[in-house]
Amino acid sequence: MAVLPVRLLPDPVLKAPTQPFDTIDDDARSVGADLLDTMSDASHSVGIAAPQIGVSARAFAVDVSGHSKADSCHGAFVLFNPVLILATNYVVGREGCMSVPDLTGNVARATEVVVQGLDMDGRLRTIEANAFEARALLHELDHVDGLLFLDRVESLSTDVFRRRRYR
Ligand SMILES: [Zn+2]
Repeated sequence: MAVLPVRLLPDPVLKAPTQPFDTIDDDARSVGADLLDTMSDASHSVGIAAPQIGVSARAFAVDVSGHSKADSCHGAFVLFNPVLILATNYVVGREGCMSVPDLTGNVARATEVVVQGLDMDGRLRTIEANAFEARALLHELDHVDGLLFLDRVESLSTDVFRRRRYR
């Protein structure tokens, strides 16, 4: 269990194909624990996917606890082999990513989703989420498919913004 360095664009691991987990064994749980540890170490992070810690596998962690834009909140959790079951009610919102630290972008995402995956015990878990948690889930689902929010913006010239620096 460890806090791992977050891979930054243009690291090729962010775009590499990912493998599903055959079984949720100790190796899988170790990836899950590293995701949780690395996410909680980055204080503003609401999610992280395995490729961002250099692991080409289908897993992510999400935690929108305490976030002002959150409505549904399932706390901190890991999903292995996540699948999007339902996505409705698309809304454009501003998004950022630990792997693209200097930019944010306007991305249309569903605000009501159902996502299924396996939890740390290998049990099937169904997450019904809305608002900010739905956005976080969809952002992480994209990561396991090698997609970044920059691949989702309508226009790279008008929908991408440089982050303000306060130092
Ligand atoms: Zn991201």
